[in-house]
Amino acid sequence: MVLVGAARQMEAPGTRVPGLEVLAEVQRRLLEREERLSPFAARSRLSRGRERSEEPSPLRTEFQRDRDRIIHSKAFRRLKHKTQVFIAPSGDHFVTRLTHTLEVAQIARTIARALDLNEDLTEAIALGHDLGHPPFGHAGEETLAELVPGGFRHAEQGLRVVERLEKGGRGLNLTWEVRNGILYSSKPREDILGEGMGTPATLEGQVVKIADAVAYLNHDIADAIRAGLLSEDDLPGIVQERLGRSHSQRIDAMVRDIVAASWAATGQAGTDARPRIVMSPPVHEAANVLREFMFRRVYQWEGRREEAERAKRVVRFLYTYFRDHPEEIKSDYVIPDDPPWRQAADYVSGMTDRFALDMAYRLGFRD
Ligand code: MG
Repeated sequence: MVLVGAARQMEAPGTRVPGLEVLAEVQRRLLEREERLSPFAARSRLSRGRERSEEPSPLRTEFQRDRDRIIHSKAFRRLKHKTQVFIAPSGDHFVTRLTHTLEVAQIARTIARALDLNEDLTEAIALGHDLGHPPFGHAGEETLAELVPGGFRHAEQGLRVVERLEKGGRGLNLTWEVRNGILYSSKPREDILGEGMGTPATLEGQVVKIADAVAYLNHDIADAIRAGLLSEDDLPGIVQERLGRSHSQRIDAMVRDIVAASWAATGQAGTDARPRIVMSPPVHEAANVLREFMFRRVYQWEGRREEAERAKRVVRFLYTYFRDHPEEIKSDYVIPDDPPWRQAADYVSGMTDRFALDMAYRLGFRD
């Protein structure tokens, strides 16, 4: 089977190309393709590497392998049954943690490709960025943050999932660049371009961080309208004027703006200026107004609903129960030598919404 021109040349009459040589050629081309990216793009050949070194794959770059490992992980499958914002929504079209993650990956890849950055690294970070989220969205995280010694942050837990908890305690052994992107993907409330816990070391990580905000601001509007909480006309004037009056207009406006505003910086080859992924000031302002509006009108409202209050009680019950009875944890998702509070935090934060509810009621939780 001959699929590409050069392979046809390699099969000139009288020659027989052994499989190994084909694979070496594929590997050479994969790396060559990365060399043609922006000078500021990450390259797998320059990766800071994995904690345990591995033989390279002939068919995939190191970042492609990381993306694949994340997709095949248990934590990734569980995203399907975890709340994004609305707990136990009354419809099939509400966003889940999984569909949110896929939207982030789509938006981030569009930006990365437009800026000639490394799409494979971008996709790996995007698919992994929410693996540490506990059940029941913000309600679950807030409750664990109060209970776990030293607090609980989903981004740190995400790193723990890929470094320690997956694969029965061995972790996924991902490259440093993907782990760095997962750790620094979260943002502070005040500013969607804010640092949060820190700025990702790669531009690909920065792309995911901003794409996360583009995705959630927009799908949360759609879900809030679906829930009857908002109508398009309720959105602040600056949002309607600068971002648009429909779901697709707003995403498109934000993505175009990010590409255009970041372009100048990413084009400065040979200078010392460190490029950044940014928005233009007018769109940045509108996006922050939208974020604040969503906090007041949607997130705070959701946090006060009875479902959220019950979710907090369930998480509190489960965490306390398993901290006091760590021997009852039947899961390979904890490290047996860890202190009981750590085992309880890992076990409970890994649960899906429905698993947590079932488990709590089975253990005697009553509303
Ligand atoms: Mg996210």
